[in-house]
Amino acid sequence: MPHHARRHAAAFCQLTDQHVRSRSSGVDLDTNVKPYRCARYSNLPEERLVTIDIHAHVTDDLDARLTADSDAGIDLTVLLSTRVHPERASSVEQVQAEFRSLQNVVAGEAVDPSEFAAPAMELRAALDAHPGRVVGMAAAPLTLERRTLVEFVDDQLQHPSMVGIGELTCAPDAGQTIEPVVQLADDHGGLPVLVHGFAPNTEGDLRSYAAIASRHPRVPIIIGAFGGLNSMLAIELATDVSNLYIDISSALQIFVLRAAAGRIPSKLLFGSNTPYGLPAASLKTVQAAITDRGALTAVLHDNAAGLMRR
Ligand SMILES: [Zn+2]
Repeated sequence: MPHHARRHAAAFCQLTDQHVRSRSSGVDLDTNVKPYRCARYSNLPEERLVTIDIHAHVTDDLDARLTADSDAGIDLTVLLSTRVHPERASSVEQVQAEFRSLQNVVAGEAVDPSEFAAPAMELRAALDAHPGRVVGMAAAPLTLERRTLVEFVDDQLQHPSMVGIGELTCAPDAGQTIEPVVQLADDHGGLPVLVHGFAPNTEGDLRSYAAIASRHPRVPIIIGAFGGLNSMLAIELATDVSNLYIDISSALQIFVLRAAAGRIPSKLLFGSNTPYGLPAASLKTVQAAITDRGALTAVLHDNAAGLMRR
């Protein structure tokens, strides 16, 4: 760990020690469905609990990237599976091709269920390869038939490093279609659920997420990517709904982020959305934008740690 990160860690430890020690060795989720333990997260050395990246996708260069992220001061990365790999593209034409695929994914286009198996295996391999350094969220493709969807999610949740469900990508203006997955998260004791948030999610979708969060008060719902162009609405909704959070990856306007940190510091979660963002750059941006020490501590670590330890 570089010198600045060590100093950073020392400053944060005083704030986190009590929280960490208050926990037993694992988290037994209160559920009648399939209880499991998020043991790996609880096994992290206390002095390294500094910054948590709540939103990062599996990439081909994961080993090198996690090393670079650790050097930048990011100690725990929440990984999500992905069906597209824009980091593989090197030419404009290849990027365009990846983005065409991405548009279909984030617009909730139906595909053959077999397409979800390989990304889930990529995520599992990443969790197995980096225990204690990464945790995961289970993919929940909303186009799957209900029973298949539940089985697919439950199967992934058996992995001890799984801490939530995401990233959910509904069709535009179909935000209500996430509710069966939120119900499943509720059945599992209140697992965090990360939704896409950025376009093509609409204002109506963000309002649907807030309404669903109100109906499932023990499930933290995290609006991804700062709600995209609807960040102001996301802030209003997260102000009003106690279990609605915002991942600040892809924050487009720094003064909005700064204002949000002033109003709802306990509802914002640091994220990079890598490979769409660069974790080290995202971290620098957040550290520059949020100058209040307590708010920064909450955004970089405490809020995410609190959700994962519930
Ligand atoms: Zn994402």
